[in-house]
Amino acid sequence: MKYCEYCGNELQDQAAFCVKCGAAVRKEDYSDLNSSSKSKLTCGLLQIFLGGFGVGRFYSGHTGIAVAQLIVTIVTCGAGAIWGFIDGIVILASQEFRDAEGKVMRE
Ligand SMILES: [Zn+2]
Repeated sequence: MKYCEYCGNELQDQAAFCVKCGAAVRKEDYSDLNSSSKSKLTCGLLQIFLGGFGVGRFYSGHTGIAVAQLIVTIVTCGAGAIWGFIDGIVILASQEFRDAEGKVMRE
């Protein structure tokens, strides 16, 4: 949740200005909303090396996929880890990869 820097009023995520005092929301806040502090490279490498356990997906916040990858690996006695591995390559090859909050991850 974001707050107005002038009056402390709670702001909507996409708000361009504060509804209480009318102050404009600083532009940097927009980029913060749309970009993640997490690294796509870290996420992809974690998936390539530990994708069988969904580690990269846990990192990016995609917990559902991560748990599924973990289960598939266990059920297939390790063979299913190829899913996480390929997932990691796809993440690294993608133009922009978004985390679970829909924010674009940095390189
Ligand atoms: Zn305000």
